[in-house]
Amino acid sequence: MTSLAQENHPHKPAAPLDVHISDRYSRQILFRGIGTEGQARLARSQVAIVGCGATGSALAALLGRAGVGTLRIIDRDYVEPSNLQRQSLFDEQDASESLPKAIAAARKIAAFNSQIVVEPKVDDVVPANIEALLEGMEIILDGTDNFETRYLINDFAVKNSLPWIYSAAVGSYAATMNVLPGETACLACIFPDSPRGIVDTCETSGILNSAVNLVASIAATETLKLLVGDETHGTERSDGIKAPHLPKTLRKTLLSFDLWTNEHAEITAAKPRPNCRTCGNRDFIHLAGKGRPESAPARRALAAKAWSSSSSLLSGLTGPPRCGTATGVAA
Ligand SMILES: [Zn+2]
Repeated sequence: MTSLAQENHPHKPAAPLDVHISDRYSRQILFRGIGTEGQARLARSQVAIVGCGATGSALAALLGRAGVGTLRIIDRDYVEPSNLQRQSLFDEQDASESLPKAIAAARKIAAFNSQIVVEPKVDDVVPANIEALLEGMEIILDGTDNFETRYLINDFAVKNSLPWIYSAAVGSYAATMNVLPGETACLACIFPDSPRGIVDTCETSGILNSAVNLVASIAATETLKLLVGDETHGTERSDGIKAPHLPKTLRKTLLSFDLWTNEHAEITAAKPRPNCRTCGNRDFIHLAGKGRPESAPARRALAAKAWSSSSSLLSGLTGPPRCGTATGVAA
């Protein structure tokens, strides 16, 4: 006999172990920032992860084990041997079968937490399908490898007042920023145009799995803060609307860290940039399909290192890195 959840989600196997929720999450419930109520909120939460390569895998693993009730994992690529060094949800069997990453991820998560719902979507997020793919989600997480998709997510999130978290890793470098529409800067506030200049990708510079895990750990923790909320220490948004569930501990900076050199930078993203195309003028060119580069070289040119200095981060001359192939979505 299968449960309704299993019928709707064929990648959920029959529960191999009857773990009571209070046992499974006991150590997390003990943590003051989560508690019993916070854990219950996590169970009711719905999070989308766009791209399930290295960063997406790590995000999905952390949030799946933490008990986020629904994870929608979107990726159109297939598991390859070169992924195994850093893409923690996949194994040699997945690579030998060339399984779609979204499907392999759902199977792996079901093996360690059969009490949550995972919705695998073998697809690429593009202007034509982003509304359908992200419908009903509370938070969008960035597991992508390209700025073009990130701009598209930014347009969708700002238009629909949904929080999203930018994450990137290449070489030994990691960068992340929370985007809270109506509260903080959006991606286009920080990078008004597609970054040009230094091209640096996982294919040219490689990638350390520790850089991936660092950025995923930070982004997953910010996600937990957003989902659990904080009614006691809620903040008032810039438009005067009370946002009781937005905790003060949410980071409002663009944070970057190079694990090899120990260089790090943090620049403020606390306020939207005046006249920002996206969150100021609400001109959603990427949702309209106008912001997509036409050629692979142009797509590759969207990638760049961003850690050299705070000023270079802001200048738009360099920008966040991307990782993976020009056409793939996951690092
Ligand atoms: Zn903006």
